[in-house]
Amino acid sequence: MIRSFFLGFIKIHILHHADEEKVYGLWLIEELGRHGYDISPGTLYPILHSLEKEKLLESQKETISGKVRKYYKITREGRKALKAAKIKIKELVDEVME
Ligand SMILES: [Zn+2]
Repeated sequence: MIRSFFLGFIKIHILHHADEEKVYGLWLIEELGRHGYDISPGTLYPILHSLEKEKLLESQKETISGKVRKYYKITREGRKALKAAKIKIKELVDEVME
């Protein structure tokens, strides 16, 4: 898939899940894999960092059985961006998927 398309789809997908519950890298890699996106940590983590830098996600470290895991959840800005994206997705689907 064209990389710029892929990145947009992945970002929206991440925001969608981070809106439902807190998420972490490995879980996202598996979830995206289930949807047919083969994404490596080397691709995913920079995307998570850029979403965090854009203040659409925020992270928190938690220690689970001795291992530190970074959880991400959506911010208020992220929720607004996701809502706006959903409207655009719907419009696009209606237009192109006939
Ligand atoms: Zn999903």
